[in-house]
Amino acid sequence: MIKVSNLTKKYGSNLAVDNISFEIEKGRIYGFLGPNGAGKSTTMNIITGCLSQTSGNVTVGGFDVFDQPVKAKKLIGYLPELPPLYGDMTPKEYLRFVAEAKGIKSSAIGPEVERVMFRTSIKQVSGRLIRNLSKGYRQRVGIAMALLGDPEIIILDEPTVGLDPRQIIEIRELIKSLGEDHTVILSSHILSEIQEVCEHVIIISRGKVVADDTIENICNMNKEHPVLNIVASCTPDAAVAIVDEYEEVTHYAITECDKGTSLELTLMPGTNITEKLYFAFAAAGIPLSYFSDRVSIEEIYLKLTESVYDEEEETASVTEEAASDANEEEYKPMFTEEDNSDEGDL
Ligand code: ADP
Ligand code: MG
Repeated sequence: MIKVSNLTKKYGSNLAVDNISFEIEKGRIYGFLGPNGAGKSTTMNIITGCLSQTSGNVTVGGFDVFDQPVKAKKLIGYLPELPPLYGDMTPKEYLRFVAEAKGIKSSAIGPEVERVMFRTSIKQVSGRLIRNLSKGYRQRVGIAMALLGDPEIIILDEPTVGLDPRQIIEIRELIKSLGEDHTVILSSHILSEIQEVCEHVIIISRGKVVADDTIENICNMNKEHPVLNIVASCTPDAAVAIVDEYEEVTHYAITECDKGTSLELTLMPGTNITEKLYFAFAAAGIPLSYFSDRVSIEEIYLKLTESVYDEEEETASVTEEAASDANEEEYKPMFTEEDNSDEGDL
């Protein structure tokens, strides 16, 4: 459905997207996960034809986004990070306006606007000014806009940012229901959101894809490098004396904590000393308050994206300069007048 090949984007000297490739198959919900500044919005803006790339290419439904933008864009509905909503319009007026700009023929506009308002449950606010709506409803209007013209693919850039917990749950439910009859790509910097909604996750860190798999497989991936986490009620020396007996342990990190000693042991691939170690501590009369041979997806996510936060601060000033370097006007909205000049139908 979507094929991204060796895509690179530089803003001045800032490499925002670094030679990434991945494929999106029809009919699933994909999570695009990464810390702030990882390159999620940049990638989504390029896929949707709103931003040009530095190199590489993207095809949507077989159409190259750059050579055949009208055909490619017709397959995509996009909710950008900052949806271009007009506060002085009502949702109904706004959706009619966008439907026209998208080239939907005038006799079809009325029913199409009704359809997307129904799907996103905004009919009851359709006559109020957008600027008076809650953030949750405004986000629904943005999603309704993306649904106009019934595109097969829906791309949502951080759709729950700034919403309260109830609104977050409602928008997630809406996204899940859209996944029943669309291919959905959802970006987020929040792991639990991706876990809750998506079947497949692409983790991006510093402009590179660091994982591209189902959540289950990403967790299993870690079996190649088994890790044991233990908290033992003893001194670090006593813990080291036990752990040192096992050649399967290739690396350990030991810290003193209020419950005694916390250990993170990395084992040789394919080895398992869970039981042996458990009994060794018991034999030494040392109680264990925690013992886990599972690595959670949170830990994997942190490992895959580690140290990004420290460097993000340092690059912030450079980035702002780069942003003012005439890159801003590169961004084009999803639909323009010329896009629909040759297209009359839905
Ligand atoms: P994300 O959406 O994952 O938070 P972005 O794609 O917005 O990440 O940003 C990726 C990198 O590119 C960041 O370092 C960001 O500061 C930089 N960046 C984003 N947009 C611009 C722009 N218009 N001009 C210059 N730098 C930008
Ligand atoms: Mg973003």
